[in-house]
Amino acid sequence: MKILYPEEVFKRRNEVGGSIEVICGSMFSGKTEELIRRVNRARIAKLNVEIFSPVADTRYDKSALVSHNLNSIPSKAVDSASSILPLSDNIQVVGIDEAQFFDAQIPEVCATLANNGVRVIIAGLDMDFKGRPFGCMPQLMAMADSVTKLHAVCVKCGQQAMYSYRLVPDDSKILLGEKESYEARCRNCFNLDGAI
Ligand code: ADP
Ligand code: MG
Ligand code: ZN
Repeated sequence: MKILYPEEVFKRRNEVGGSIEVICGSMFSGKTEELIRRVNRARIAKLNVEIFSPVADTRYDKSALVSHNLNSIPSKAVDSASSILPLSDNIQVVGIDEAQFFDAQIPEVCATLANNGVRVIIAGLDMDFKGRPFGCMPQLMAMADSVTKLHAVCVKCGQQAMYSYRLVPDDSKILLGEKESYEARCRNCFNLDGAI
């Protein structure tokens, strides 16, 4: 795999070596919460941490990740995956949220970081509103050391939900929104209203 950034910039390597941890699931499944939890634990361990999100995600403050239960943590909004590397100098743990919105270089960027000793924790939607694999998530999941699939609660029946059901008639793949635009549904309730 092509190395995008010179090895010597990663001055402080993790003693245990690098890794890629993927956190995936539907909207409201707790991905951002879990990312914040893991990153906070790294902070307690006195590791240098940096968190990134795509500038395309304009729902919240650009300087913080905010979960649906309003936990937040400072973050940097970047316009491309490759912008992450120059900002990761001397960083031991890199957190990335909304991975599905990043460009096609994101898997290679994560691999470069991990191969240079960085622990990468990356969260994203595994499926779009039609239940199709979203962006680079399939590649990231294949390349990851570990994959955690989280579930939300189906708003219709209370079962485990893995789909993000779009409530508004709009066929574009990306439609930024929250509770007014999406709800978490299980397979049965997702299929009931002819979403696919
Ligand atoms: P994600 O990043 O996966 O969209 P968040 O970490 O931002 O999720 O938010 C998870 C929180 O969302 C839960 O702790 C809960 O407070 C809230 N929430 C709202 N609706 C639901 C739902 N249908 N199922 C589970 N959690 C929900
Ligand atoms: Mg989130
Ligand atoms: Zn259901």
